[in-house]
Amino acid sequence: MPGLPSEPSAERPAAPRRPRASSTCPCGSGRGFGACCGPYLDAERTAPTAEALMRSRYTAFALDDTAHLLATWHPTTRPARLDLDADVRWTGLEVLATEAGTADDVRGVVEFRAHHVHAGRADVLHERSRFRRQDGRWFYVRGRTPAP
Ligand SMILES: [Zn+2]
Repeated sequence: MPGLPSEPSAERPAAPRRPRASSTCPCGSGRGFGACCGPYLDAERTAPTAEALMRSRYTAFALDDTAHLLATWHPTTRPARLDLDADVRWTGLEVLATEAGTADDVRGVVEFRAHHVHAGRADVLHERSRFRRQDGRWFYVRGRTPAP
C-alpha cells in the first residue's frame, strides 16, 4: 500500500548457483556452461530439443535450480512445490537414447543415467523421460525406470 511502510520481504530462496560461463557444463556435454545449459537456466533461450531440455534439467538438479525445474515441468504433472534433497550431489549424466524430440516433433523420449552420491553412497538413476512440446517449448512430462 502506498504510504505504508512495506512489510519485510518474505524469505526468498538463495539465488541458484551458477558456474562460470567457461567452465564445463555439469550435463557432461563437454561444452562450456555459457554455451550449453546456462542460457536455458537463465531463461534467455528455450531448449530446442527434448535432449537439450533434459540436459538443462539435470544441470538444474546439480545446481539446486528449482525455478528452472518447475518452469520446464508440464503443467499437467508439475508438483506444487519442489524440495531438493540436500544430501544428493549429482556427479554425471549419460544420455543413452533419444526418440523424436527434435524441433519438429511434439513428443520426445530421452533415456539416461544420472549418477549421484546420496548420503556418501554412489548411486544411479536410470530413467526414460517423456517430453512434450507446447507453444514452441519443450516440457518434461514424466519418467519411469525402464524394465530390466
Ligand atoms: Zn549442459
